[in-house]
Amino acid sequence: MPLFTIIGSSNAIPTKKRDTTYLTLQTKEKYILIDCGTNAFVRLVQSGMSPDQLTDIIVTHFHPDHVVGLPLLLMDLWLIGRKQPLIIHGLNETITRIEKMMSLFGWGNWPEFFQVSFQVVPQVKSVILYDSSVKLWSTPVKHLIPTIGLRIESLSKPFSIAYTCDTEPCQGVDDLALGADILIHESAGNAKGHSTAGQAGEAAARAEVDKLVLIHYPNHSEESKLINEAAVNYSGEIITAVDGMTFRW
Ligand SMILES: [Zn+2]
Repeated sequence: MPLFTIIGSSNAIPTKKRDTTYLTLQTKEKYILIDCGTNAFVRLVQSGMSPDQLTDIIVTHFHPDHVVGLPLLLMDLWLIGRKQPLIIHGLNETITRIEKMMSLFGWGNWPEFFQVSFQVVPQVKSVILYDSSVKLWSTPVKHLIPTIGLRIESLSKPFSIAYTCDTEPCQGVDDLALGADILIHESAGNAKGHSTAGQAGEAAARAEVDKLVLIHYPNHSEESKLINEAAVNYSGEIITAVDGMTFRW
């Protein structure tokens, strides 16, 4: 039974309770990390998952709050003796920067470091990966740097989750969200490259999703205010994401 977990739900300023936004998807065959926040190794263990089981990491864009934990996670996997290869997916620009970051850490000289391979995600709507239970595709969204949003579609029953990542309202968000069961939409606020909770509600209404989950909202926000703001435009169920929230299907 696939399991989708919100590991962290905060904007770029984490707290004790809320880590920066990153997510996992577990299926029978794959264990996928979506972005890599400040304390991934510990948070994955706390969520009852073994970090060594990771098969894929998808990096949505190269902003620190989405990628900062990656060097330490890779190092820790090496130190616990990982042997199996790992695939990292991202846009060309994202991968180029990850390689530069890792070369600063001298990862080419880590003895017996496990194999990491990169899969370039095209700058158009495209399937990133699939297995017997899910198909996961991405499309570019409108952020400050090249960024992708994601959609997970179940192959066993009609069920889908869309994740906008960091973005202004745009066609990519509408494509990802269309008819989704769950739309996980950022609500960082009124700033270039981001969306308000009200705009998240508008997107949820346009796409006729069943449920809206607000994520990446500032820690000083009053959650009821965010929900009320989104509800101006959207009459479905609205909740705010918290760390550890899970969805199964
Ligand atoms: Zn960002």
